[in-house]
Amino acid sequence: MTLANIARYDERRAPSLGQRAVVVGGSVAGLCAARVLCDSFVEIVVLERDAFPSTPAAREGAPQTSQPHALLEAGRTTLEDFFPGFGNAVQSAGGLQLDMTKDFVWYDQGGAVTEAAADLPALYASRPLFEHVIRERLREFSEVQLRGGCHVLGYEHDAETERMTGVRFRDEDGQETTLEATLVVDATGRQSRTPTWLETHGYPVPDVDTVEIDVTYSTVRIERPPDVRGGVLIAPEPHRPRGAAMLPIEDGQWEVLLQGLHGEQAPADRETFIEWAEALPRDEIGRRLREQEWVSESTRYPFPASVRRYYSSLDRFPKGLVVTGDAIASFNPIYGQGMSVAALDALALHHELAAGLAGLGPRFFRRTDAIIDEAWRIAVGKDFVFDRTTGPKPFGTDLFNKYVARLLRRAHDDGTLTEAFFHVFRLERSATSLLHPSVVWRVFRPRFGSATSSSENESTSYSTGD
Ligand SMILES: Cc1cc2nc3c(=O)[nH]c(=O)nc-3n(C[C@H](O)[C@H](O)[C@H](O)COP(=O)(O)OP(=O)(O)OC[C@H]3O[C@@H](n4cnc5c(N)ncnc54)[C@H](O)[C@@H]3O)c2cc1C
Repeated sequence: MTLANIARYDERRAPSLGQRAVVVGGSVAGLCAARVLCDSFVEIVVLERDAFPSTPAAREGAPQTSQPHALLEAGRTTLEDFFPGFGNAVQSAGGLQLDMTKDFVWYDQGGAVTEAAADLPALYASRPLFEHVIRERLREFSEVQLRGGCHVLGYEHDAETERMTGVRFRDEDGQETTLEATLVVDATGRQSRTPTWLETHGYPVPDVDTVEIDVTYSTVRIERPPDVRGGVLIAPEPHRPRGAAMLPIEDGQWEVLLQGLHGEQAPADRETFIEWAEALPRDEIGRRLREQEWVSESTRYPFPASVRRYYSSLDRFPKGLVVTGDAIASFNPIYGQGMSVAALDALALHHELAAGLAGLGPRFFRRTDAIIDEAWRIAVGKDFVFDRTTGPKPFGTDLFNKYVARLLRRAHDDGTLTEAFFHVFRLERSATSLLHPSVVWRVFRPRFGSATSSSENESTSYSTGD
């Protein structure tokens, strides 16, 4: 399920469902869930173990917030629906709205894809700024209490009715306390304790798929000249398990990110960082790293594996509980999907709340399964182009990867294919849209007399594009 086939947010669909809902975890998934709960509960309490910053700031509880975050179209549109004016607020705070193919060099399969005919706008900002804008817009809802410094210790549960009744947590003053709730939402990310809790309380636990990709990120911020707005992305490939991106953000900066896969350690020290970038098949990133002032030193982040928990297949699950965001599935971050999937999960919650609380958990998990299927197919599917990726491989992955590789090579000079690819990458359309006969024809049609595609040879030299 993608943006194309999930109904958009509509606050008129929301029934009144109770006095209080508690959201555990105040990152993107928790904040988005809280937004849709506003339509059905008198009071929504978001409990987050970090203090909530009053300015854009990376947080210890979600350490990936110091790394670059792209916001895909599915996330941007959904956040705009939840918080009208979201995009303007990001731009007023210094974020940029750019076109993903006209303002960016996107290098994949041995060449840069050509511009799409259609506009493919996207917002660019640091992760702390995206999160800050969401948080500040949520504060405008009088139903919501954002309580930072509150560490949730466990769920309160009525064993007889198999229903959650609230949560137990250590509050801002270090006191242990309980809070009753009609609905509890677990948005605690990859470290979610719900599976352990289920096991301890005699419930079945979800099966887990783990796909090991062993990515390291290393990121610095550098100054960006005032008249330059674009960016660059270089996708890793099997013969070069190193990728990179240079993303424009607020405050006249670029975030420069190096990615190493399967044991390739993205470097932390400055000179090796630059040398890594200079060895990439495009020269923009290495050149800018040498020319521009560095605003920060590098921060590193290891991401061992994509993880997916199959809550939808459980035959017993406590009433009054749902799990959302990375706590259900977290994907290789190279594909920039997590915040968008978190927003779509909240949209799924909105639609399922419309049908009331009875059977909410299983209904919600079935719907999020369909959302995660699409994102998982793109991220995890693509990870299997690397021989060393281990884990359950979705059916048809190798064939599909070969097809998409060919499509991308053809997109080096066919903007219709660039557009088709980006609609899928941005979680707007299903991956099956790439199998539409009009697309398949363009991927396989003979091209008499055309020169060998630049894609066939990585040593081809390119203009710098800026
Ligand atoms: C290196 C990296 C780069 C990424 N890049 C992108 C990108 O480009 N684009 C994109 O869309 N996504 C990206 N992601 C994914 C994105 O960060 C997440 O998908 C997104 O933050 C949604 O996650 P979440 O809210 O479910 O969980 P998290 O962001 O992990 O948040 C969980 C929250 O729960 C809190 N918490 C945990 N336990 C408790 C407790 N017991 N009590 C109270 N609070 C608790 C934590 O403090 C934290 O704030 C990236 C991830 C990584 C690791």
